Amino acid sequence: MCRADAGKRTSSSRRATGDEQSESVASTVRQKSSASFREYSTHFFVGGAGGLAQKGDRDYILISLPRRCAHIMNESIFPKFDLNSAKSALVVQAHPDDAEIGAGGTIAKLAARGVEINYLTVTDGRAGTHTRTVYPEQLVPIRRAEEQAAMKVLGAKNAYWLDFRDGELEPSISVRGGIMRVIRTLKPEVVITLDPWLPYEAHPDHRHAGMMASEAALLSQWPYIHSEHYSDGLQSTKVQAIAFMITSKPNTFIDVTDTFDKKLSAVKCHWSQFGEDWSNFSQLLRAQAERDAKRAGMSGGLAEALKVLSTAQLHVNQNAEYE
Ligand SMILES: [Zn+2]
Repeated sequence: MCRADAGKRTSSSRRATGDEQSESVASTVRQKSSASFREYSTHFFVGGAGGLAQKGDRDYILISLPRRCAHIMNESIFPKFDLNSAKSALVVQAHPDDAEIGAGGTIAKLAARGVEINYLTVTDGRAGTHTRTVYPEQLVPIRRAEEQAAMKVLGAKNAYWLDFRDGELEPSISVRGGIMRVIRTLKPEVVITLDPWLPYEAHPDHRHAGMMASEAALLSQWPYIHSEHYSDGLQSTKVQAIAFMITSKPNTFIDVTDTFDKKLSAVKCHWSQFGEDWSNFSQLLRAQAERDAKRAGMSGGLAEALKVLSTAQLHVNQNAEYE
């Protein structure tokens, strides 16, 4: 149960600015939420009107943040996007193979349902080797061909490439603009990408590709951001939702029992990456899928874990972490 007394008033004197902020947010809650205003108002005040209160500085002191309250509150304002209802998706990955590993079963399942799925790979994959027996320039076309083969297995449509140097990706206007250009060209309902907020992710390409894709998914709706796209006949478009793969905070589990073999076949297409270790790696993927099925409460079977948010939840929303 949510507890209205989770935040405790400790003084009768309130700062005018705090009152104004609190009332402004609270009135939004009254309008948009059918649940008890009293139940939610404390949490909105604590989070929305200034973060953690400090003793002697504000009237409310945070005792605890009831996550379930935040979850319920957000659902009443941002209805959860149903991935099953998607008609088109753009997969944005750092390297060839990321999407097959992170969401291959889901992609195959959506494609089998008739969802149009296109890929955008942000780097050129030139660094995907542990030896110096092949030149990076030789590796680039090999990995492109492997990705095309993997996409064919999963039922994806077209591949787009930004060709930033593998291993050197930085967050930038040009990376974000490049992703936005493809989004405005294809107008996908959903962007599927790496979770840039994954703790302990040490590969910068993964973090930056995920973050640039998140920003692009949000910002594509505003015409004066990367307005140069208009001169090429493109227009702003609103992406409905984003699905993060390889996430530590999943809120959606996809049953991929029927498409897991396709996933393995697609990952196996990246032979330059996993050829020698295929047996171990395929066992690892299966073990992860079994674990995620258990987390989803499935009795047996295989699953992939995603975090699905509406793009509206990617902006001034302190509760997205708990969604
Ligand atoms: Zn990668």
